[in-house]
Amino acid sequence: MPLFQMRVLVALLLPCFLSLSFLSSKLQAVDAVAPVANAKKSQRPFYFPNTEILGEREMRVIALGTGTPHIRPSQASTGWLVELGNGDKFFFDVGPGSIRNFSSLQIPYDHANKVFLSHLHVDHIGDLDVLWASGWTAGRLKPLEIWGPSGAAPEFGTRHYVNGLLDAMRWDYSTRNGKLPASGSKVEVHEFDYRSKQLVYDQSGVKIWSFPATHIIDGAVSYRLEWHGLTFVFSGDTTPNKWFVENAANADLLVHEVYMTLDQLQARFGWGRSMAKNIARTVHTSPVAAGKIFSTLKPRMAVAYHFYNDFDTAPEILKAIEDSYRGRLVLAHDMMVFNVTAERISVRQAAVPENTWPPLADKKKFSEAERGISTPMSEWLKAGRLPTETSE
Ligand SMILES: [Zn+2]
Ligand SMILES: [Zn+2]
Repeated sequence: MPLFQMRVLVALLLPCFLSLSFLSSKLQAVDAVAPVANAKKSQRPFYFPNTEILGEREMRVIALGTGTPHIRPSQASTGWLVELGNGDKFFFDVGPGSIRNFSSLQIPYDHANKVFLSHLHVDHIGDLDVLWASGWTAGRLKPLEIWGPSGAAPEFGTRHYVNGLLDAMRWDYSTRNGKLPASGSKVEVHEFDYRSKQLVYDQSGVKIWSFPATHIIDGAVSYRLEWHGLTFVFSGDTTPNKWFVENAANADLLVHEVYMTLDQLQARFGWGRSMAKNIARTVHTSPVAAGKIFSTLKPRMAVAYHFYNDFDTAPEILKAIEDSYRGRLVLAHDMMVFNVTAERISVRQAAVPENTWPPLADKKKFSEAERGISTPMSEWLKAGRLPTETSE
């Protein structure tokens, strides 16, 4: 290309690059400050992270994982993120793969350090260590706060699980401690009694209640979050029960587990009829039963998750739910985004980049934050290292 034409091209493109980088830095700044007004009236058909500011009275719920214990590329195990217009963000379960999906949203980990666990099945908690370590290395300065139920005995409770997990992570912890800010490694556990309805979180106008769920053995719960007249209910894993009917009414968004149909369990998993019945009806909620729960509770929008949501399974599940429920219903996919206001609920897919880097931490705070005490390498191991580094 002749030099003149090249100069013209550069002159034409330079303002675009400048405005893009300005926009990007502005959006990062907005996200870092968090709450802002002006709910977007018009939305693009896809949700592009960090391009939309939540309204003062708006809730955004993102499905980080909608699958089952059998992890697969198309569906992470259970994980939901609730974002509020006041800047608050809450995880409800962090199953395997859910934090990988969360990372694509480019949300600073300091803004997402509150986790509510429904129960201690691995498909709901398997990424707890990932969130702990990922967030710490990505610049989290705040402790990770974990709310979760007690169990029938102390060793079945959330505190026991988290303490055991941290104990098992000792090698990992010892390699990072001393190099990363000490505050980011801290974990605070808020264990509560699983047996009764109770307010487990009450800050900045956000109230979160837990109530018992019926899932195999004692110690599972469901949650209800209320904020500025908007209500999000999350079942976790449960069969239909009286506590859910009592506490999940008038929800704007009701996220409920639904399992595969009996025919699907027999054909795809190779289970016998009695085992399929046992799992689908006494461990989880069948599509038929979910339809009855939805029709009883009549949420503004019902959301079903915890099944293989494929082109050849979804129609049967949808049909079974719709036998008794005719309200607004979504069969959730990973990275589905729900924007909830008093006026409307919109549903879209997120369009996310794959090669994400950790969101930039506050460099000053990060570098000045206190470090713990490093664990050194032994002298005999150190003596085996080769001097390959230059002196720069
Ligand atoms: Zn479970
Ligand atoms: Zn589960």
